[in-house]
Amino acid sequence: MIEALTRGIKLGGITNSLVKTEIAEIKSSANFCVPLKSGAGSESKPLVIVGDLIKRGTVIGAPSDETSGFVYSPCSGAVVSIKDKVNSLGENCLNVEIEPSHKDSLLYFRPLENHDNNNLFGRLIESGSFDNWGQRYPSYHKYINPNTIGARTIIVKLFDSDPYCVSNLKIAEQYAKEVALGALCYFKVGVAVKLIFVGSKAVSKATNQKIYDAILDEINKSDMKTNQVSFVTVSKVYPNDEDHLLTKKVLKKTISISVPVSDKGIFIENAQTCLNFYRAVFDNLPTTEAVYTIAGNNLKNQGVYLVKNGLVPQNVFASVDIKNKELFRQYSIGGTFNGISQCDTSVGLPLSVSTLFSNKWNEENFKERDCINCGRCNARCPIKLSPMMIDNFAINKDFARAKRYGVLSCIDCGVCSYVCPAKRHLSQRISDTAQAIKQRRTM
Ligand code: SF4
Ligand code: SF4
Repeated sequence: MIEALTRGIKLGGITNSLVKTEIAEIKSSANFCVPLKSGAGSESKPLVIVGDLIKRGTVIGAPSDETSGFVYSPCSGAVVSIKDKVNSLGENCLNVEIEPSHKDSLLYFRPLENHDNNNLFGRLIESGSFDNWGQRYPSYHKYINPNTIGARTIIVKLFDSDPYCVSNLKIAEQYAKEVALGALCYFKVGVAVKLIFVGSKAVSKATNQKIYDAILDEINKSDMKTNQVSFVTVSKVYPNDEDHLLTKKVLKKTISISVPVSDKGIFIENAQTCLNFYRAVFDNLPTTEAVYTIAGNNLKNQGVYLVKNGLVPQNVFASVDIKNKELFRQYSIGGTFNGISQCDTSVGLPLSVSTLFSNKWNEENFKERDCINCGRCNARCPIKLSPMMIDNFAINKDFARAKRYGVLSCIDCGVCSYVCPAKRHLSQRISDTAQAIKQRRTM
C-alpha cells in the first residue's frame, strides 16, 4: 500500500541532534533489491541473469535510452531474482535481487589516464551517479546541451532542502576535500567560469567557515584562479532545491520558470554528487551508495547513514530500532515535501533520495480539514500556481480546468502540503491529477 500522506508532515526539533552525528554505515543482513528505475526517466536494461555470481561494482543495468543510466551492484553475491516489483516512487520496475556473500570483493573502473574534459565526461556518464529527475534527463545532459547560452556557472549546494535532512551538510563536513575535487571535475566538464559553493544560514557560522576553509584549501592547490570561486550562504526558504529559486538567491537572477536554469548555463550540483564524481574519477569506484538522513519520532537511533543501493528498509529499521512497533504503520522514502509513504519494507532504497523517516502513527496528522482560505499555499508555490484552486478541480475531477490552471506545470515539490495549516493533501492530489491527465493523453 502506498500513499503520499507523509508529505508536509512536521517532525519538530529533530534536526539539531542530527547535526551532531557522524555518518555511520548500515550493514545488510538481508538480500539487496536494486531497482532499475528510480527517477522520472526510463528503466535500465538488466545485464545479469539469475544465478550470476557478481562482485561489488559489477554493472547490472545499462541505459535503455538516453533517459536512463548505469546501475552497479552494491555488494558481491549471487543474483537470485530479476522481477517486477514496486520501487520507491510507487511504480513497478525490474528489481535485481542479490544475496550478498560473506566475502566482498570490488570491481573498479579502469583508471583514467588523464583528466581532460572528454575523459571526465565519459567517467561522469559511466559513474552511475547522475540522477534522471528533472527537465533534462539524465542530468549530465545539461553539460552538453547545445542550446545552453551564457557563461557557465557551477553551483554546489552544501546543505539540504528538506528540513529533516542533513546529508549534504554532513558530507561537506566529513569529505570537504573530496567535495572540492569533485566540484572541480564538474567545473572542467562544464567548461565553467565560476564555481559557487552555497551553505545554509541555518547552520552555525563556525561550521560553515570550517567547511569553506577546508574546501578552499583544496581549491588553492589547483590551477583555478581564486576570483573564479566563491562562497555564499542563503536562508532556508523551501523549496530551496528548486533551481530557479536557488539561482535567484545565489546569482540574483530571475529565470523564467518555463526555461531550465541549465539552458542559461547554470548547473546545480550538491555535496553528494560531487563526492560521487570524485570517487568515480580518483578512486575509480562506481556509485553504489548514498548518504541518508534517517529520522522520525518512532526511531531510537536517528542519524546519518551510508545506505547501499537496494538496501531494504526492514534492514534499516532493524538497525536503527523502532521505539513502538504497534505505532509503526508506514514510513517515507524521500523528504517531507515530496517523499512517498510506503508500508512495504522490502522496497529497495534508491540512490536518488537522501531521507527516510518514520513517525509514530497518528491518524490526526493526516486528517484533512476544510480550507480556511489563508492563501499560504498560493504564496509559497514556486511556480506561482494556485494549489487550493487546482485541488478543488482535482476533487471534482474537472481535468479541463485543472489544466487551464497549470496542473501540468506543477514540479511536485510538496511545499503547498507542507505549509497548509488545514493539512490538505494538496500536492498529492495535484500530482495524481497531473498523472491522470498525462495517462489519458497517451491512451
Ligand atoms: S502546486 Fe506543485 S509546484 Fe506548487 S507548491 Fe504544490 S507541489 Fe509545489
Ligand atoms: S494553505 Fe491550505 S488552508 Fe490555506 S488556502 Fe491553501 S489549501 Fe486552504
